Amino acid sequence: MTETGVQTRSFQTEARKLLKLMINSLYSNREIFLRELISNASDAIDRLRFESLTDASLMAEDAELRIVVEFDKDAGTVSVVDNGIGMGREEVAEQLGTIAKSGTEEFFERLTGDQKKDSALIGQFGVGFYSAFIVAKEVEVLTRRAGDEEGARWTSAGEAEFTIEPAADLPRGTRVTLTLKPDATEFADGFRLRSVVRRYSDHVGVPVMMAKEAYDAKDDNADKDAKDEKKEPELETVNAAKALWTRPRTDIGEDEYKEFYKHLSHDFEDPAVWSHNKVEGKLEYTSLLYVPKRAPFDLWNRELPRGLKLYVQRIFIMDEADHFLPLYLRFVRGVVDSSDLPLNVSRELLQEDDRVRTIKSGLAKRVLDVLGKMNAEDYGPVWDEFGQVLKEGVGEDFANKDALLGLLRFNSTRDADDATQGRVSLRDYIARLEQPKTVVEAGGAGEDDSKGENESQTAGEADAQDPAPSGGKKIYYLIAESKAAARQSPHLEVFRERGIEVLLLTDRIDEWWMSFAGEYQGHEFQDVTRGELDLDGDAKTGRQQEDKQKQEDEPLLKRLAEVLAGPDGKVEGVRKSIRLTDSPACLVLGENDLGVQMRRIMEVSGQSAPETKPHLEVNLSHPLIQHLDKEPDEDRFRDLALVLFDQATLAEGAPVAEPGAYVQRVNKLLLDLL
Ligand code: ADP
Repeated sequence: MTETGVQTRSFQTEARKLLKLMINSLYSNREIFLRELISNASDAIDRLRFESLTDASLMAEDAELRIVVEFDKDAGTVSVVDNGIGMGREEVAEQLGTIAKSGTEEFFERLTGDQKKDSALIGQFGVGFYSAFIVAKEVEVLTRRAGDEEGARWTSAGEAEFTIEPAADLPRGTRVTLTLKPDATEFADGFRLRSVVRRYSDHVGVPVMMAKEAYDAKDDNADKDAKDEKKEPELETVNAAKALWTRPRTDIGEDEYKEFYKHLSHDFEDPAVWSHNKVEGKLEYTSLLYVPKRAPFDLWNRELPRGLKLYVQRIFIMDEADHFLPLYLRFVRGVVDSSDLPLNVSRELLQEDDRVRTIKSGLAKRVLDVLGKMNAEDYGPVWDEFGQVLKEGVGEDFANKDALLGLLRFNSTRDADDATQGRVSLRDYIARLEQPKTVVEAGGAGEDDSKGENESQTAGEADAQDPAPSGGKKIYYLIAESKAAARQSPHLEVFRERGIEVLLLTDRIDEWWMSFAGEYQGHEFQDVTRGELDLDGDAKTGRQQEDKQKQEDEPLLKRLAEVLAGPDGKVEGVRKSIRLTDSPACLVLGENDLGVQMRRIMEVSGQSAPETKPHLEVNLSHPLIQHLDKEPDEDRFRDLALVLFDQATLAEGAPVAEPGAYVQRVNKLLLDLL
């Protein structure tokens, strides 16, 4: 590599693809290039301010921090100039030639080739600097890093290559000059640029300046100097130049909040919701938190750096300060500005600071609160994007467990129509549980936002002589591999018969978070596939005890247990089922046994899951079982018992242990029939 002279280098393949895609997809919204460049310039100024906290000399040569937007109508150019931190030569090649974002590959895999869909994805990716090529046929970057002698010149026509060379006599900071494409020369115009700056960058904390327009000078005739055309043009600040979060909430319009979000996140879509708060008292801080409309493509990578922009006393300290929000809120973007933290705070210090912990818990509550207050229509899409991450919270944030549970949405045996698919909240569920009670106590004070109650549910509850107060009633749920498997599960039979709603869960982490859920508003969670069901409540316990005694005497159950239970057997025991109406048998896990999902999680993480056996429950009124009871031939009884067990396994959506043996047994039985 030569130390001097022009080098030509290639863009990283991904950068090239991204460039092309962006130019096509953002064409209709081209003016955003200015927002992106101003946003980078203001970040560069923020970083200079931060670095000069420890090295004041960096600021010395030019302490008046600002961004200047220039244009030349004749040459067809627009420049964005900042006196921020600047870039070193290698840094320019690195930063502007590659996309240094992990997950880039996955991003490209998700592109469909359909421009409409892909342009939405582009927003998630956040393209920043490259957006210059939407309007420019050529881009030149002149930059010198604060503290360096020499600077660099970078140029590219946005195709495969860029050039880079040393450049002398540059002021500190970065000048990005766009030579506009013939169809974009409209931007080399003062009026146009001003309006774009005001529209998109009003809230940027740094002044964005432009030369005073000629008509201003004429208006101001008394000022003779203004007539001297040769002089450096006089600059004026075009934007409000006051960081948005420092202004009172009541002064800020919706559009300003939205624009600030885009500036902050490089997202091209509006945010779904935001929360702006100033906390005063022992600890003072301001936060402006945004929930995006769309999950970032790398949401599932829990290791990635992400977090809020941290300011201390209005001074930018760091990006991706991940100490201020719990991991399950890693999709939230925003700013936190504290007056209490020291300016020299480091990541290590943040880690241990009690004030940071306090702010973190305050911010988590804010986010959960603003999500909780969204109306159902707006919240639905947010749930679709971030619901699975919120579920992590139930297991990780005990203090906010109830708020989190309140945000969860479910499929249930009730939501047959499309509008409510996957949108049942625990409040909906409980409101329906309470339904019979509100009927009894006419005018009872139950919150009643449930609609379209069907009678079969209340019918099931009503036959209890002394209806248990709803506080004691359980929230029933079933975990399965898919919605279809869930709906077909034999475990739902008795619930269907009695009209009791069951939540259907199919996410891979459902079993995990459920193990932390415990109860919600006095209602315990109960997995319908576990333990001995007690649908009638405590009043019936006595009768159940009696039943148990009778069961043990039941000769069929004993006979089945001889074949299937025992030390080498397939099941823990055999008992009569109250779960089934249509199926002959089903498998039931112990209350504390690991389910399929948890076993899988343990296997993936290299742990061995303890061996546990389910109970076989049989439906004594099923014709197959009744026939089985009368089977005199011991071998045949054995075959039938094994088939019964294997079928119960299949009905769980699990594979049978010995498929060959199962098929042979079934065939033998079929032959007997023919
Ligand atoms: P992002 O801003 O999302 O990181 P960009 O593509 O916009 O992505 O910019 C890439 C990097 O180039 C920035 O992170 C920054 O390091 C550097 N950069 C861009 N513009 C400037 C600038 N005006 N001054 C200093 N560095 C800059």
